[in-house]
Amino acid sequence: MTVEQNTLYKNVIDMIGNTPMIELNNLDTGKCRLFGKLELNNPTGSIKDRIALNMILTAEQEGKLKPGQLIVEATAGNTGLGLALVAAQKGYPLLIVMPDKMSMEKEYNLTAMGAKVIRTRSDVVKGHPEYYQDLAARIAEEKGGYFINQFANPANVEAHRKTTGPEIWQQLEGKVDAFVCGVGSGGTLSGVGGYLKSQSSAVDIVLADPEGSILAPLHNTGERIEPRRWLVEGIGEDFIPSICDLSLIDHAYTIPDKRAMFAARELLAKEGIMAGSSTGTLLRAALDYCQQQTEAKNVVTLICDTGNRYLSKLYNDEWMKAQGFID
Ligand code: PMP
Repeated sequence: MTVEQNTLYKNVIDMIGNTPMIELNNLDTGKCRLFGKLELNNPTGSIKDRIALNMILTAEQEGKLKPGQLIVEATAGNTGLGLALVAAQKGYPLLIVMPDKMSMEKEYNLTAMGAKVIRTRSDVVKGHPEYYQDLAARIAEEKGGYFINQFANPANVEAHRKTTGPEIWQQLEGKVDAFVCGVGSGGTLSGVGGYLKSQSSAVDIVLADPEGSILAPLHNTGERIEPRRWLVEGIGEDFIPSICDLSLIDHAYTIPDKRAMFAARELLAKEGIMAGSSTGTLLRAALDYCQQQTEAKNVVTLICDTGNRYLSKLYNDEWMKAQGFID
C-alpha cells in the first residue's frame, strides 16, 4: 500500500471536498469505462458537506447570517448533516425539518451532532403547510432564524461549479464524455453539469430520476405528471427548484426503486463500496446509459452518500421483503 496523500489538516472543515475517484471495473459497463466520485468520503459522509460549507460562508460574507443566529433548513437529511458539522464548528444553533420517510439513522446522526430535528409529512407537495420546505420557512420566520434554503440558494450551485466540477475534470484529465447525476435541489446538476458543459459542450449530461418524480417524464415527453411516492432518499422532485437548470440535461432515465436498491447492493457486492439509495439510482442509470453506447466513452457518476445511513432499509432483508423487492 502506498500513501499518496499525507496532508496534515488543521480542522475538519478543511477535509470537505477533494474526494477520490475510482474506476468501477466489476460491473457490466458495455463498451464504456465508468468512474465513481466517492462523495461518501466527505467528513459527514455525503456530497452535501460541500454546499453546507459554501452556503454558510456566503451567508456570513453577505451579512445574512448573524453570529450565533439560528440556522433552519429543509432537507432529506444529508444537507442537514453537513450543516450540523459546519454550524457546530462555527457556533450556530441548527434546526432541521425532515420528511418522515427519511431513515432513522439520519435523525440519530443529526441529533448526535447537536441539531434539533422536526419530522413532517412526506405525502404532501409544495404549497401544503406541512410540506417540509414550507414548514421550515415558516419556523425560520417565527423564530427569527436564517432559512438557508438549498433549493433557491445560488451558493449551492456555486459550491459544485467551483469544486466538484473542476475536480472531476482534473481527475479524468478532461476525458469526460458523460456525467450522470440526480436532482434533489438541482445544485449538482446546475453546478457540475454547467461546469462540464463550459469545458466541452460535447459532454452528455444524464439525469437519473426515481420513478414517481416529475423530472425525467418532463424531459422525455414535455408533460408534467402528477408526482407519485418513491422510496429512494435525496433525489427526485415534485416541483422544479429555482436553481435547477433542466436545459443542461441531454438524456433522462426513470429508475424504479427496486432497480435502484439492487444496483446499490451490487455496488457493495462487486466493488466493495457501501452507498445509499440515491447512488443506486445514479448507478443504475449510468449502467443503462453505458450499455446503450455503441462507442467507448468515459462516464462519471457520484457515490453520493454512505450506506451506513440505510442499514435499516436497503441493506436489511426484512425491509426489502416488506417492500416486495425480494422473496
Ligand atoms: N444524493 C443524496 C443522498 C442527497 O441527499 C441529495 C440531496 N438531497 C442528492 C443526491 C441530490 O443532489 P442535489 O441537491 O445537488 O440535486
